[in-house]
Amino acid sequence: MQHRSFPPRERSLFSNGDRIGSEGSKRRRKTNNIFKELAQYRRQLGLPPAGSEADRSTIAKLEVSDRSFFGINSSSNPYSREITLRVNPITKTHAEADAFQQAADAGVGGGKARLIVDRDLCAACGIRGGVNSMAWQLGIEELEIITPSGTKTITVKPPKTRRR
Ligand SMILES: [Zn+2]
Repeated sequence: MQHRSFPPRERSLFSNGDRIGSEGSKRRRKTNNIFKELAQYRRQLGLPPAGSEADRSTIAKLEVSDRSFFGINSSSNPYSREITLRVNPITKTHAEADAFQQAADAGVGGGKARLIVDRDLCAACGIRGGVNSMAWQLGIEELEIITPSGTKTITVKPPKTRRR
């Protein structure tokens, strides 16, 4: 895989910027409820709990434009769908892409959105910009990303892709 340098801003998007302080405990409770919903979805699919020994799956939920879309990584997904969004081949197989693609297929996007994933973002989705790029294609301006390691809000930027 070729290495590219990213501007400092993009690099810092996924540095540890978790919210702390007086709002902390309220926010954590809220976050727990969010993950409960993803855990329930896993159970419905017969998948093991997130982070467990047997877990090989990821569930992502995208909330955009008053709609919610649950995504599953393609190898665990009984309803695996074609990803027509332009994104790196690794992200394409991940739960995040499945969620964003459903929103794209439904023709929704824009504004502020929220992505909840029950596993931390991989490098392809995170620092290499896969998630940002998909959000951009959906016209999303601001994306809150909630993962087990914390919450981050990114301002969606034009993807810096080099066509191959
Ligand atoms: Zn990923």
